[in-house]
Amino acid sequence: MATGKPVITEAEEEYLQTLFWLFEAGLPMTAANVARAMQLSAPTVSEMIGRLVRDGYISRDADRTISFTDSGRADAERIVSRHRMIERFLTDVVGVPWDDVHEEAEHLEHAMTPRFEAYVIASVGDALTCPHGHPIKVGERIDGVPLADCDLGAEVKILRLENEAEDLLHYLKHNGIEPGLDGEIAAKDAETITVRSAAGDSVVTISVAETVSVIADPSPPPRIALPEQLVLGQHRYGR
Ligand SMILES: [Zn+2]
Repeated sequence: MATGKPVITEAEEEYLQTLFWLFEAGLPMTAANVARAMQLSAPTVSEMIGRLVRDGYISRDADRTISFTDSGRADAERIVSRHRMIERFLTDVVGVPWDDVHEEAEHLEHAMTPRFEAYVIASVGDALTCPHGHPIKVGERIDGVPLADCDLGAEVKILRLENEAEDLLHYLKHNGIEPGLDGEIAAKDAETITVRSAAGDSVVTISVAETVSVIADPSPPPRIALPEQLVLGQHRYGR
């Protein structure tokens, strides 16, 4: 009979990715936030959280806060890193647009053999981030501030799209916001914010701008994303 942990299932991998995303964003790792982020019911999430505890990936405090075990954290980092690498591969090598790539990577990552993964690493192994600005080597995340917090006249560089829900990525791409873009805040009111760059004016709603991390000068104070921003997308949020 086999010993040790059972082989990780696809569903467990999805949950570990979500938990790691909460962890990276500085949001509380709770079943409620997982349910919100994955748009699943509380009983469904609670059952899977129980399974992850039983299989040794996470533990839960008396106050229900979730933490990774050491090996669970290593597993989560490996899964997240591989997801971002596949996204980079699909964008740079295959030519999948960056606003479609997250969902494609979700499917591919569960079907990939170790041999194919080695080819992926060989082709995009030098890349630092996924096409949405998230570090492939997790832990090397540059701190940013929400675009929504930036003042009129501030110079900004788009660092990261925190929420990878496909409809949200389509909206951002359509409106000209993408990682690496340099610009200046040219207008801002209660509803929208405008980034002016060499490519023109990009106007997005303030609620979407909550999900875009930038480096700004002058910079507003650092702030953790709002939990409501987890659920902007129709589909699952992404990471
Ligand atoms: Zn990504």
